[in-house]
Amino acid sequence: MKYTFDAIIIGGGAAGMLCAIAAKRHRPSLRVALLEKNDRVGKKLLATGNGRCNLTNKNVSPEKYVGNGAAPTVAAVLQKTDVPALLQYFKDLGLLTSADSEGRYYPLCRQASAVLDVLRFQCEALGVDVFCKEAVRRVQTQNGFAVFTEQNCFYAPKLVIAAGSPAAPKLGGCNSLDALALRHRTAPFTPALCPIRVESAVLKSLKGLRAHAEARLESNGIIKAERGEVQFNEDNLSGICIFNLSLYAEKGQRIVLDLLPNISERELYNILQKNKTNYAQQPADNLLTGILQKRIAQAVLKQAQVKDFSHPCKKLSEQEIRAAAKSAKALTFAVQGNMGFDRAQACKGGVLLPGQIESRTLQSKRIENLWFCGEALDVCGECGGYNLHFAFASGILVGEQL
Ligand SMILES: Cc1cc2nc3c(=O)[nH]c(=O)nc-3n(C[C@H](O)[C@H](O)[C@H](O)COP(=O)(O)OP(=O)(O)OC[C@H]3O[C@@H](n4cnc5c(N)ncnc54)[C@H](O)[C@@H]3O)c2cc1C
Repeated sequence: MKYTFDAIIIGGGAAGMLCAIAAKRHRPSLRVALLEKNDRVGKKLLATGNGRCNLTNKNVSPEKYVGNGAAPTVAAVLQKTDVPALLQYFKDLGLLTSADSEGRYYPLCRQASAVLDVLRFQCEALGVDVFCKEAVRRVQTQNGFAVFTEQNCFYAPKLVIAAGSPAAPKLGGCNSLDALALRHRTAPFTPALCPIRVESAVLKSLKGLRAHAEARLESNGIIKAERGEVQFNEDNLSGICIFNLSLYAEKGQRIVLDLLPNISERELYNILQKNKTNYAQQPADNLLTGILQKRIAQAVLKQAQVKDFSHPCKKLSEQEIRAAAKSAKALTFAVQGNMGFDRAQACKGGVLLPGQIESRTLQSKRIENLWFCGEALDVCGECGGYNLHFAFASGILVGEQL
């Protein structure tokens, strides 16, 4: 079948749906086709925020995003739709929201399905033509755009690519840019916001535990530091603070955990000296009793080269006490890589912005009437609602120009 529209949007995710809604709210007579390869729109959206959809954050700002030369574009998108504007936009669509103590906004009912339903109902009410099970294979640019799926061909003078990234392939994540980037240069997609694969002699003994820590990504100096809960797994570290480090992590770097970030090394040393006396007759692995979980304390002592836990605490040397304090402030893991697209919430990479995409409009500088939005662009935010904010805000920005 052949279909003709005024505008075609490829990708029925967060960015594509907001783009379609914004286009129809702005110009109700516009004939808009939203093409989605899955059997339904917004599949990824349903899984966001552990099924609760963390849709934005009080702290949204350009510093929360990475991407090659992306800062001016991110700033322009966030300026056009800042946090109050996005919340008001959703309120107008019928979605009430509230923030948690860390500034993360969720729907009031804490259900991602509510966000998707509001967007689906709005697409329907506004008359967006939604086509599911339509995987776009090829796009031609001749007198506008011809968009080919397996079964059908769609024509329109305007085209938006909102096809996302390969993060979470089970939810529809894929790399469509090879077919859809239309001569635009791209940075290869790499997994981000995911657990970091690490190696350390003590990791296996920590499997299944969680600890609050300051996690630092280090190479020659500190690359990035984050506080939060760290989860120790078979071959990786996980947790929101680790996800944020994964934006920058590369093999050869280290993750250093300060397990007691509110106590100085000197203070800890003094406490351990007291413990040596208080627990004089107890086996050595009790040195950190009352401070750290037992298995974590044992890992700290192992890294401090305290080998024989059967010795009593009183036998620990001055050097061992000092090393134990140091080790608790810097439990170290060697970065081996990430856990792949399956475990990633987002991707670095995508259509490169500098020289190719107009910052204020997200329109291509190479092909007229072509726009990109959402994660298809080389923009990736930290955990906490930043990626959805960018997807929604960039979708609105583009939609209002169609
Ligand atoms: C488990 C998980 C939890 C997350 N939680 C959060 C969170 O709480 N807060 C937050 O801010 N971010 C979160 N994210 C990230 C966030 O979901 C994404 O950044 C966001 O969905 C990107 O929006 P998008 O519209 O650009 O891409 P997507 O939402 O991925 O939408 C792209 C759509 O395009 C479709 N598509 C791709 N290629 C084609 C093609 N060739 N033809 C037709 N259709 C195509 C895809 O099927 C998909 O539906 C999470 C991600 C995951 C995986």
